[in-house]
Amino acid sequence: MAEIKLKDLTKVYGNGFKAVKSINLDIKDQEFMVLVGPSGCGKSTVLRMIAGLEEITSGELYIGGELMNDVDPRDRNIAMVFQNYALYPHMSVYENMAFGLKLQKVDKNEIKQRIHDAAKALDIETQLEKKPKLLSGGQRQRVALGRAIVRKPRVFLMDEPLSNLDAKLRVQMRAELIRLHDELKTTFVYVTHDQTEAMTMGTRICVLKDGEIKQVASPAQIYNKPDNLFVAGFIGSPQMNFYRGNLIKEGDTYFLLGENGVHGKFKFPVEKVAAQMLNPYLDKQIILGARPEHMILTQGEGLRAEVMVTELLGSEIHIHAYVQNEIHTVKIEAPTSIKAGDIITLLPESNHIHLFDPDSELSIV
Ligand code: ATP
Repeated sequence: MAEIKLKDLTKVYGNGFKAVKSINLDIKDQEFMVLVGPSGCGKSTVLRMIAGLEEITSGELYIGGELMNDVDPRDRNIAMVFQNYALYPHMSVYENMAFGLKLQKVDKNEIKQRIHDAAKALDIETQLEKKPKLLSGGQRQRVALGRAIVRKPRVFLMDEPLSNLDAKLRVQMRAELIRLHDELKTTFVYVTHDQTEAMTMGTRICVLKDGEIKQVASPAQIYNKPDNLFVAGFIGSPQMNFYRGNLIKEGDTYFLLGENGVHGKFKFPVEKVAAQMLNPYLDKQIILGARPEHMILTQGEGLRAEVMVTELLGSEIHIHAYVQNEIHTVKIEAPTSIKAGDIITLLPESNHIHLFDPDSELSIV
């Protein structure tokens, strides 16, 4: 069993900078956990503490129930794959994959078998005799993965392993990593700043900001029920549109009234439970969020916007439009006659809105 437990894990670097602030996280055995967040949020530091490459300032790290704080990296039985996977250029693919096992004095036939199995899983069986320089970027990345797989680690740690690949190869390798995770039945912890990778690969996603965890949940939960404004804005591309306004109620209907009335006013239905939670915000400011696919173009009341640019992405079109000085985005199906300079009216789809407290930035409903 290789569950990983982080308990109040903290990292303060030598210069006094607190990169990881007392985080708690339980990663289940065989889970594919993705750590995601903007540059500098501390995700690589967390991974490096799990690997033993970075000293833990305070808190506890358990792997498979054992306290690992002071265990040497070599004795943790984990494998790490980095963005810059340096292969030995003078060795063949086979020798590159065998190198670590030879150092461990693993039996020759056992090495052969493990390399054969890994090469088969990674579809590089015909490349084993080649030198790395004859391989494509994707094939080299697979060799780096193979080198990790043959060690049969109980945990795989990966730090942005796909970021050097071109877009097409990244998509292909993403699918291969998902398949590999299913096949190997091992715990994966994967660091990325790319939210598409996080959404497509993780069984759960841990969103970090400034050394703190903002939410841990399945991709669907993170997308549909973000806990706070940061997660709502970070996950999703193009990002969620936000709209500040005063919450007002007329009869049983709730409305959001844009600042100074200039954004217009739109109503949304609210269920009973939600209404109770919303009432304290009446006549006060709240933040309403709506994803681009949940914005509609209307002829009626809504947000008046001037189209800045339209982007054709095959079957869909993204319209980026100024609502005053802020850019709002709408996803619609192609084709459209809308073009830059046009004035349009936008409305968030009322049953797909998110509401946030402007002070705590937490989700209200
Ligand atoms: P990126 O996506 O850019 O790699 P990250 O989320 O992985 O970012 P970390 O590499 O974990 O971020 O770094 C977290 C913070 O700690 C950053 O602000 C970084 O500048 C700082 N940091 C990292 N290493 C050190 C160090 N050796 N000494 C001082 N500060 C450091």
